[in-house]
Amino acid sequence: MTKNEIELLSNLKILYVEDELDIQNITADVLRSVCKEIVCAENGVEALEQFDTHGDFDLIVTDINMPKMDGITLIKKIREKDSTFPITITTAHTEVHFLQDSIDLGVNGYTLKPIDLKKLMITIAKAADARVLRKQLEKLNASLIQRVKEQTYELNSILDSQDSLIAVSDGNGIHTINKRFLDFLGLSSLDELKEKIGSICNIFIKEDGYYFTNSIDEMCCVSQINLTTNTDMFVKMKNANGIAFIFKLNISIYEYNGKHFILSLSDITTLKSQSDLLQYQANHDSLTNLYNRQYFNGFLKTELNRAIRYNHPFTLAMFDIDHFKNINDTYGHDVGDEVLKSISDLVKNHSRDTDIVARWGGEEFMILLAETSINIAISKIEQFRILIKETKLSSKLTTPVTVSFGITQFLPNDTLIEILKRVDIALYQAKNNGRDQIIQI
Ligand SMILES: [Mg+2]
Repeated sequence: MTKNEIELLSNLKILYVEDELDIQNITADVLRSVCKEIVCAENGVEALEQFDTHGDFDLIVTDINMPKMDGITLIKKIREKDSTFPITITTAHTEVHFLQDSIDLGVNGYTLKPIDLKKLMITIAKAADARVLRKQLEKLNASLIQRVKEQTYELNSILDSQDSLIAVSDGNGIHTINKRFLDFLGLSSLDELKEKIGSICNIFIKEDGYYFTNSIDEMCCVSQINLTTNTDMFVKMKNANGIAFIFKLNISIYEYNGKHFILSLSDITTLKSQSDLLQYQANHDSLTNLYNRQYFNGFLKTELNRAIRYNHPFTLAMFDIDHFKNINDTYGHDVGDEVLKSISDLVKNHSRDTDIVARWGGEEFMILLAETSINIAISKIEQFRILIKETKLSSKLTTPVTVSFGITQFLPNDTLIEILKRVDIALYQAKNNGRDQIIQI
């Protein structure tokens, strides 16, 4: 016997049917020494009972000529229950006429009596082979399914433990989503998401500065381009309570039966509002809320480059509050600050959307009038001059406050320094000329 046959036999549970008890005992004893389990029956009726009670036999070895129910009837009854169940027969030379019936019933092997035990074992091993293989395969499949289940569970647990909202897409739709994402949307399952929302693109809010699309596929493509250009993607989404949150969107790709995209959304709402505030503070004057000098210089440089390239006009106006030191000395610094704020608000509220107003420093201000020639600018500036003079900037003031303006237009070949120098000289002249006036250079 081969090693495989011995190993196979050691895993078998066999129902052995034999009416002659001395043969049954000897044969069963030998089989027990090599097989996992041997259950004996004395006739077909008993064998059928055992077969149904145990339910986990791998093979039946049966005699043919038996009282109560013979082997042929037993085989027929077993075949009705399980048409492929392995059965081998033991039969005497005198019973050869049964052999044809058993072949017709599809028995898987036979051993002639008197039984050669070694031959019997080889016959059993051959007959059980296919079934044992199939059983092993089923066992393997079951353990594979179990492993897949375990790994899926493990993967879902990992996904659910993440701080980010995570979804996996095959490019068309979402097929995996973590609990945090569902919680954010106030949903309980992916099916509910598909039913109520459809594509997750539908929850992105369309707003300037935030990525928006109707197609996951497009989003995945854009993300790959952004990856090569190092561009961040930001999306805005409302949670179940209608509160908008800002997320940084990362998309990574893996290949398995085609491309899959892992969408990972990190909440940066707090970070974004903090950075917006910091950016505002960095660009604005804290007292007047106008742009500060540094930020204004940036605008001016951009406008200067644009004017040079396209030969478009722009005008720069600088103004200064007349006798501001006297206001501070007479009414105190609080009133001085109030005047600065009131003038800033006045100019800001009466300037055009395209005009840039900034506090240059102290009581000095700048106005950049984009795409505006000096002739148009001068009438606008004159309006400011009169407006400031005629407005009571603080209830504590007893006399009007006036301002002096210097204005200048962009000239070909201007540099930042030259235009700033010119406007400063113009303002200086307005001051020297007696204040409350506009001087253009
Ligand atoms: Mg017999």
